[in-house]
Amino acid sequence: MTRPHYPNYMIDPFGRHISYLRVSVTDRCDFRCVYCMAEDMTFLPKAEVLSLEELERLCSAFVRRGVKKLRLTGGEPLVRKNVMSLVRGLGKHIDSGALEELTLTTNGSQLAKYAKDLAAVGVKRLNVSMDTLDPVKFRELTRWGDLDQVMRGLDAAQDAGLKIKINAVALRGVNDGEFEKLIRWSHGRGMDLTFIEVMPMGEIGGEARLDQYMPLSMARAEIAKHFTLDESDFRTGGPARYFNVAETGGRLGFITPLTHNFCESCNRVRLTCTGTLYMCLGQEDAADLRAPLRASESDDILDRAITEAIARKPKGHDFMIDRRHTAPAVRRHMSVTGG
Ligand code: SAM
Ligand code: SF4
Repeated sequence: MTRPHYPNYMIDPFGRHISYLRVSVTDRCDFRCVYCMAEDMTFLPKAEVLSLEELERLCSAFVRRGVKKLRLTGGEPLVRKNVMSLVRGLGKHIDSGALEELTLTTNGSQLAKYAKDLAAVGVKRLNVSMDTLDPVKFRELTRWGDLDQVMRGLDAAQDAGLKIKINAVALRGVNDGEFEKLIRWSHGRGMDLTFIEVMPMGEIGGEARLDQYMPLSMARAEIAKHFTLDESDFRTGGPARYFNVAETGGRLGFITPLTHNFCESCNRVRLTCTGTLYMCLGQEDAADLRAPLRASESDDILDRAITEAIARKPKGHDFMIDRRHTAPAVRRHMSVTGG
């Protein structure tokens, strides 16, 4: 664990240096993935959402406080109007060296339009979410998505020189017959692939969660029938464990928040588009940074609010999906906190 001696840095009560900020720039999306959203989602009133200028000021305050990696997510970050003005503004911290990495998690639908601009302002890598290579299943899973459009986005991103990691949620009875194909396809295109275990976040309707849930230990056992997996020491401080796949030469990750405890090395906090800071993905406690941000043009009040929030970062979370707990463990949707 890094323990910098810079007094402005954010160190939580457990000695963890907070160096990674994930920002949900909008709760809206052009897809309605079945594990993420209900079909008839109610989104935040626009008036509650921070302007892009406010988001940039808030993110910049975190960069000043020692954040080295910043990820824009959502909802779908690239559907926010004028989002490039924010990315460009934050890209300046890359130019100055204050920020080491600026990246996005996206569903890829708008990449054909934005890939070149993203690369031009200092973005080097993207996470693109894609759970299936079957266009019909893709439409069913995302309700509104078009696989071809995402594929064109991926082409554009790779042409622009962006490194891509594919994220796929493992869903029982949906894409569990496709793991081998997804691995060969991603690695064949020079992209890493990470499987994510479905998490109980937000009401999505009915008993869907239990039907979808697939422990990644099962996914790994299935994959190990086709490939040799060598555990890699590659770490991001997050919940992913990585393996090198001998047959493809590519990297394969597993994110298993439900079956593994990854909290002790947690280096991240999450900011919503209303300026609410969540210190843990799996807990309800949050701090409002919008009022302190708006209270003054100087950042003193904001800085104090950030310090107080970090002092409340919990040691970890306790997610659970089983037959007695079908209700979401955390009421907010992933699209609010940004995954
Ligand atoms: N719209 C963008 C996208 O889909 O990449 C960014 C936001 S999305 C909420 C971020 C990631 O969270 C996606 O990879 C998505 O698959 C994942 N996700 C959403 N709901 C989830 C859930 N209930 N459990 C696990 N992963 C989830
Ligand atoms: Fe939208 Fe991403 Fe949620 Fe799918 S996972 S509905 S693309 S925010």
